[in-house]
Amino acid sequence: MPVTGERTINADHAALIRRIFAEFSDGVSPKAIARRLNAEHIPGPRGKPWRDTAIRGHRTRGTGLLNNELYIGRLIWNRLRYIKDPESGRRVSRLNPREQWIITEVPEMRVVNDALWARVKRRQGEIDATPRVQAIKETRFWEKKRTTHLLTGLLRCGCCGGGFAAVGKDYLACSAARKLGTCTQRRSFKRNELEAAVLNLLRERLMRPDAVAAFVTSVSREMNAGRAEEGAIRARLEAERRQVTRRLDGLYDAIADGLRTAGLKTKLEDLEARLGMIDTKLAAPAPSPVRLHPRLSEIYRRKVEELSATLTDPEIRPMALETIRGLIQSVTIHETDSGVRIDLEGAITALVGLAQPGADAVINAGSVKVVAGVGFEPTTFRL
Ligand SMILES: [Zn+2]
Repeated sequence: MPVTGERTINADHAALIRRIFAEFSDGVSPKAIARRLNAEHIPGPRGKPWRDTAIRGHRTRGTGLLNNELYIGRLIWNRLRYIKDPESGRRVSRLNPREQWIITEVPEMRVVNDALWARVKRRQGEIDATPRVQAIKETRFWEKKRTTHLLTGLLRCGCCGGGFAAVGKDYLACSAARKLGTCTQRRSFKRNELEAAVLNLLRERLMRPDAVAAFVTSVSREMNAGRAEEGAIRARLEAERRQVTRRLDGLYDAIADGLRTAGLKTKLEDLEARLGMIDTKLAAPAPSPVRLHPRLSEIYRRKVEELSATLTDPEIRPMALETIRGLIQSVTIHETDSGVRIDLEGAITALVGLAQPGADAVINAGSVKVVAGVGFEPTTFRL
């Protein structure tokens, strides 16, 4: 059985591990420890910034720095087994029963003494016993897959470009700033105020009549570009069709002359199959030009209005939420000298599709952007 290549832990690394253990047992949270280490430019695992999860890990699974028994001179094999999730294709780990673990004593690897290890385990026990952690465990939050918040996964930090995550129940902030300490936009924003601002942008700013003129122009340009590309593809297919037909004619002539080999038969079948595929592609109708409704803006606003009204109805809310989320590509939060600016990027296909069902099919989403921005007075947010 192979044993880890690193047979001793160097002195600097050992000191760092002891420091992390000591800080945690003194009551410093893994998140705060990660921030401190990143602020001191101490590289984390594999040279990346420190993350709280790499420190905290999972106690029973033996993951995370604070649960690595190698630091008390024990190497545990076969604690976890890895299987491939058939649905996602991702590797997931499962805990093996304790009797299957293989424990090797490696005293030369020890860097943390038993007293410090015990202090860390005691502190972990205290944290687990707090009402807050108990409440989280009872809600089994990890089993809830349905999105219940409007902005989940859509917010971007205007400073570092990273995502936002929840801070407590009611606030959102840049993950990199809060967890890694690698971004300076540390301010948190009240979730319901951000949601209200974004809904307002969707209703009032994104599809304003004056903005729609520019929008229609860019959509038309996009559709024309799409048609030009379609034309080029058809021309290529037609050229290939001529070539395949010519080669087939040659083969038919050879067969007529009495040549019948197995290779010839295979070649004939291949070319005939290719010809059939080309004909199927050429038979598909070319996309029809789409004329956007002249009152697109008005229809759109009414629909968003209706959708936002249904958000208060618990029965319809999940559906309305998904539809509204579908209209948003991203929401970027910038902190500026004069306050906070929110840039909303609309998902063009869904925007047009909502106001004019059917039109969205021919628009190549992604290359046309609709961006609306709004500034807030800093006092809008209670911090
Ligand atoms: Zn950031």
